[in-house]
Amino acid sequence: MKQELLKNRAWVEIDLSNLEYNINQIKKIISDKTKIMAVVKANAYGHGIVEISKKLNEIGIFDFAVATLDEGIILRKNNIIGNILILGYTSIENLDYVIKYDLIQTIIDEEYAEKLSSIPFNTKLKVHLKINTGMNRIGIHYSNVDFIKKIYSYDNIKVLGIFSHLCVADSCKKSDIKFSNTQIDCFNNLINKLKASNIDVGKVHFQSSYGILNYPELEYDYVRSGIIMYGVNSEINSYSMTPINLKPVLSLKARVTSIKEIHKGESVSYGRCYKALKDEKIATISIGYADGIPRNLSCKKMKVLINGELAPIVGRICMDQLIINATNLKNINQGDIVTLIGNNKVSAEMISYKSNTITNELLSRLGSRLNYIFIDERK
Ligand SMILES: *Cc1c(COP(=O)(O)O)cnc(C)c1O
Repeated sequence: MKQELLKNRAWVEIDLSNLEYNINQIKKIISDKTKIMAVVKANAYGHGIVEISKKLNEIGIFDFAVATLDEGIILRKNNIIGNILILGYTSIENLDYVIKYDLIQTIIDEEYAEKLSSIPFNTKLKVHLKINTGMNRIGIHYSNVDFIKKIYSYDNIKVLGIFSHLCVADSCKKSDIKFSNTQIDCFNNLINKLKASNIDVGKVHFQSSYGILNYPELEYDYVRSGIIMYGVNSEINSYSMTPINLKPVLSLKARVTSIKEIHKGESVSYGRCYKALKDEKIATISIGYADGIPRNLSCKKMKVLINGELAPIVGRICMDQLIINATNLKNINQGDIVTLIGNNKVSAEMISYKSNTITNELLSRLGSRLNYIFIDERK
C-alpha cells in the first residue's frame, strides 16, 4: 500500500472497519426484527460501491438499495449477494435487465404500474411499491387503496415489498414532527387495510438515516441506511434525538506539490482575490474542484490538515490544484500528505456547512479521477 500511496496525487482512503463499526451502532438502535438495507447509490456516496458492498456482504448485510439499474448491474457483476432494490425509475424497455440481473424494481407511480401491467415478462418481475405519503417526489398516492390492491394481483409481477419515505425526519420543529407522524399514520393505515384484505404485503420499510435516529420506535422489516452508515451526519446541526457514535469511513487526501515564499502585496491564484499582507510562505496542493473540493470555499473559507496542523486555503481553488498559506506551519515538505476531508479537524460536516450544502452532496460528488485505497484494520 505504501508504494501505491506514493504514486497518488489525490485519493480517497476508505476505512472499512469504520463501516463495520457504524453498522453495529445502527443495529443497537433498531429493533431485533428489523434488518438494515444498505443504501449504496451514487458510488456508495462516493465511497466505492463495489468494495463497500463486498465488506457489507462479509459482515452479514444482504439487502441493498441503489438508485439506478446500472448501479444494480455493477453489484451483480461483482458477485454481490442478496436483494438489490432499485429505488428510482427504470425505463420500461430496460425491465428485462432487471429480471436478467435478479434485481428488484420500484413501482414509482400509478402510470408506471399501469404500463407494467400489460408486459408479458418471461419471468415475473420482482417489485416493491413506493407509496407517496406527502413527499410528492415519486410514489403511488397512499389514498389509492383499491389501485394498490389491484397491483398485488397482477400476474406478471411479484410484489415483494412496500415502502415510503419521510421528508422532514431530520427536523425537531413541532410542525415537522407532526408532518412525519401524519406520513407514518397514512402509511400504517394503508398497510392495515391491505392486510385486512388478506394481502401478503411483503417487506415493509420507511426510515432512512434520520428516520432511524428520530423515529427509533418504528419496527418495520427494514431501515434504509445511507449517510450515517458512512459515519457522518447530513449536517453539522442536524437533529438526532438518539445519540449515536459514528466514525467517518472516508478521508480525502492529496499532496504538497510546491512551496514558495511570496512578498507582501503579491497575489495568489486566478482573479488575484488574495494578496499577501506580509512576506508569506505558500504551498500548492494537488487537488482541485474537479476532484470535489467546492470552489465556493476559495479564499480562506476552508482549512486543510498537514502534519497535524491546519492551514487555510488562499486565493481561488482551481480545477486541479489549490494553494494554502503555510506561513505558520512548523513542518511542511514537498510530497507531504494533506488531508482535506477526514477526522473532526476537517470534518465533512464542517466543510458542507461552509459550502452551504449537506455531506450527502459533498461526498457523492467527489471527482471520478480520484484513486481509492481501502483499509481494513480487522484483516
Ligand atoms: C437516498 C435514499 C435513502 C438513504 O437516505 P439517507 O438519508 O442517506 O440515509 C433512503 N431511501 C430513499 C428512498 C433514498 O432515496
